[in-house]
Amino acid sequence: MRIAARKHTNDNVPRRERLKIEHLRAPALSQCFPGVQQLRIELVFSDPETNAPPPSPQLHTLFIAAPAFFRFSCPCADCDGEFDLTDAVTALVAGLERRKHRASGNMSCQGVRFRDHGVHQSNCSMQLIFQLLAEPRRAA
Ligand SMILES: [Zn+2]
Repeated sequence: MRIAARKHTNDNVPRRERLKIEHLRAPALSQCFPGVQQLRIELVFSDPETNAPPPSPQLHTLFIAAPAFFRFSCPCADCDGEFDLTDAVTALVAGLERRKHRASGNMSCQGVRFRDHGVHQSNCSMQLIFQLLAEPRRAA
């Protein structure tokens, strides 16, 4: 059921491209979170169902002019999933006044892998461990 609902047929733009476009259109960090000077997002991936080497970890450093966009596509090339850290970032920023600068957590990919041109489909098993670090803006 879940796989059928995720067909790509009504998409003119592939999902990854859409994510990039949405990223470029996102408002600046300073607009969304005026109290934040800098935000570091560290992503570490692992896939327990394969023996292949895990995808490279990613480190994103967002300054005030960077787009406030916190969705990252799954590093698995044939997967349509993404990891959405928007809620985690929002919660961290909300806690900044109480001097809580760090947050971490993990989530699993909810995407579907399309192998062999979509002949074989399976739920993605990619796991993400993330670390967030927010630096509050200094009062002028
Ligand atoms: Zn995935």
